[in-house]
Amino acid sequence: MTIIALKPHKEESVLRFHPWVFSGAIARVTLDADHRSPVPDEGELVCVVGANGQVLGVGHWQVGSIAVRLLAFGVDSLPEHFWQERIAAAYAMRRSIGLISENNNTYRLVHGEGDRLPGLIVDIYGDTAVVQAHSVGIHLCRKDIAEAIVATVKEVKGVYYKSDDTLPFKASIEGEKTGWLVGGDQQPAEYWAKENGLEVRIDWLNGQKTGFFIDQRENRALVERYARGKDVLNMFCYTGGFSLYALRGGARTVHSVDVSQKAIDLVNANVARNFPGCTTHKAVTADAFDYLSAVTNGKSVNDQIVNGFDLIILDPPAFAKHRDAVKNALRGYQRINAKAIEMIRPGGILFTFSCSQAVDKEAFRLAVFSAAAQTGRHVRILHQLHQPQDHPINIYHPEGEYLKGLVLYVE
Ligand code: SAH
Repeated sequence: MTIIALKPHKEESVLRFHPWVFSGAIARVTLDADHRSPVPDEGELVCVVGANGQVLGVGHWQVGSIAVRLLAFGVDSLPEHFWQERIAAAYAMRRSIGLISENNNTYRLVHGEGDRLPGLIVDIYGDTAVVQAHSVGIHLCRKDIAEAIVATVKEVKGVYYKSDDTLPFKASIEGEKTGWLVGGDQQPAEYWAKENGLEVRIDWLNGQKTGFFIDQRENRALVERYARGKDVLNMFCYTGGFSLYALRGGARTVHSVDVSQKAIDLVNANVARNFPGCTTHKAVTADAFDYLSAVTNGKSVNDQIVNGFDLIILDPPAFAKHRDAVKNALRGYQRINAKAIEMIRPGGILFTFSCSQAVDKEAFRLAVFSAAAQTGRHVRILHQLHQPQDHPINIYHPEGEYLKGLVLYVE
């Protein structure tokens, strides 16, 4: 096996179980005898050692600033049933906390570093698992991973692989980046799964990410608690998860807004399935800033005059995908939140989120603080929200924290 030797003192973070080795920490690469190229192959399993030769662990090699993603610490090879054991451990955690039931068969089975499997995401929708690889190493192991999923989660009959958007652009990748790894021949034209008793249509083929945003499940349940009798705006609604909970919670009206027509079609399908004949829901295809400006100015939006809202949800896409984009992202968060705070009725509630990993809690809170100050409204923080239990944060890898939210009471 290829050996990656670190510079003196660079082993400290690895000894504290941080799973990333940065390229700047590497002193020397000693290729194993089979290598023809002068560098390790992308996705190759390598052994990391300290400056004194101490074995630190094994992981996947990748070109880039994170050179190795460690899978196991203190060993120089992976145990025989590695994938099976790790996936079984992830499943056992979710079972033991009571997340999986007949009413809730939508959950994240593997959350990368949070489940000690850097580069791997697995979402479960009933009898289907959708797998995403974020590293070439995971891509190369996809068949073993699919087998381990089917062996562990007895409900799962099909495993779909969807990594065209997540694998590193520059890597030369052999094999298909999308397609069925297991089963798939019997899939219905429309696929429905359940989240907390609500039916949700999952379209992993054409949808964003793995087809659904599972990470807002607990926060949606909180919206349900506050929705009774309220006029609700679900901005950046995607498939309308928050809207379904607001309707079940007894909202007076719900407006769902997204710029994507495909998303709006899914929202309408989801509402029709769960609330047949519902007349209190309206889905609008529009840009968020245009929509909020129009409503603030009292203009008609899609033939409707809207006079403010009592409960607004703002769940935008990641405004900052990289560190360099943080400044602009914060400006974006401030602008959109100021618009929402400005238009919410007195005594209204704002659920506001950021899923940009590069924007931390404090920075996000500061952006929302600036937005509130800009409007001059009295604002209290009722809840501070975060990602749910099936998106766990490995305590040794604080970078795994990405979703944060604030629930504000606006006078
Ligand atoms: N709240 C959703 C997830 C939101 S994902 C849920 O619970 O499932 C972000 C969404 O924002 C995507 O559906 C994307 O189409 C939409 N979006 C991106 N830019 C937008 C814009 N400028 N205006 C409105 N929607 C936008």
